[in-house]
Amino acid sequence: MHAYAVVENGKPLQEIELPTPEPTGTEVLLEVTHCGVCHSDLHIWEGYYDVGGGQKMSLVDRGVVLPLAMGHEIVGRVVKLGPDATGVKVGDLRIVFPWLGCGKCDTCLAEEDNMCAVANRSLGVYQNGGYGSHVVAPHPRHLVDLGSLDPALAATYACSGITVFSAIKKAMPLAPTQPIVLVGAGGLGLNAIAVLKAMKHQNIISVDISPEKREAALKAGAHKVVDGSGDGAVVTKRIIEAAGGAVPAVIDLVNGTATARFAFGALAKGGKLIQVGLFGGELMLPLPIMAIRVLSVMGSYVGNPKELRELVKLAQDGELSALPVTTVPQSQAYEALMRLRDGKVTGRLVLKAESVS
Ligand SMILES: [Zn+2]
Ligand SMILES: [Zn+2]
Repeated sequence: MHAYAVVENGKPLQEIELPTPEPTGTEVLLEVTHCGVCHSDLHIWEGYYDVGGGQKMSLVDRGVVLPLAMGHEIVGRVVKLGPDATGVKVGDLRIVFPWLGCGKCDTCLAEEDNMCAVANRSLGVYQNGGYGSHVVAPHPRHLVDLGSLDPALAATYACSGITVFSAIKKAMPLAPTQPIVLVGAGGLGLNAIAVLKAMKHQNIISVDISPEKREAALKAGAHKVVDGSGDGAVVTKRIIEAAGGAVPAVIDLVNGTATARFAFGALAKGGKLIQVGLFGGELMLPLPIMAIRVLSVMGSYVGNPKELRELVKLAQDGELSALPVTTVPQSQAYEALMRLRDGKVTGRLVLKAESVS
């Protein structure tokens, strides 16, 4: 197999040859047809996350091994089955659930692989992913039938889709008319609006510093938009004003110091701040306020296979409006990554294997 791999952090991807994996046990080998280029690929490529206070979390220290074919928004065609793999056949086109754990513990067996505490084997992060020609799914349960969905769009459900879906599920239950605030109207923000609309939510408030992005949020179906620029206390006020009061849930898709502060300030009693973005920074929590106002600050990271299937079902029922997707030949993976870094991407770039007509 070949791969467009990170060989050295921060340097151009290189095309390398690797042995094609041989599926054993329940494993399934797929030939990658499509793979989304995700913002977190940029962090993996750079090699670190900013964890605040001038500290960087090195991904190599966390177990990322180079060279690595990144890419975790994968659709592929089954080409070979391990002797114990059942339920799929050669030629089947499937979304590959990438957020793999050890595969054996109770958490993994309950299909909450992304919460596994034993091992992190995520595709495109700790194992080769969709920037390569082939990928291995450990078990057929990690494969989701996309039916008649556009594979380029369906690929994005494996990360940007379930990331917002899982965060929204944490914000629920809310009555359809209760306000839910989404901070950030980039790809994830627009996706979150689409998912909330599909779930028939009627009070979506989108916050962004960019007038163009706020406009895009309104077009996507946000009921109100709030300017996220300027002093944090002022932004908090604007949110509360737009919502007609403090809010029960904020999903922070940026999750930087500034957004976390203004979002936290807007919470109603019992409110939840759900932190999704990986912008970086830190948040100081006023401890008595946490208790008195019964607040929750919680993280949400990607999602599980059950949520992926639920999301695909929502899309197949035709209720989920599509994120704009642009396909690029897989050989241009590095150029695609740079376009993303330079902020020149609307919606999602999806790599398409040369073998796909
Ligand atoms: Zn991603
Ligand atoms: Zn596990």
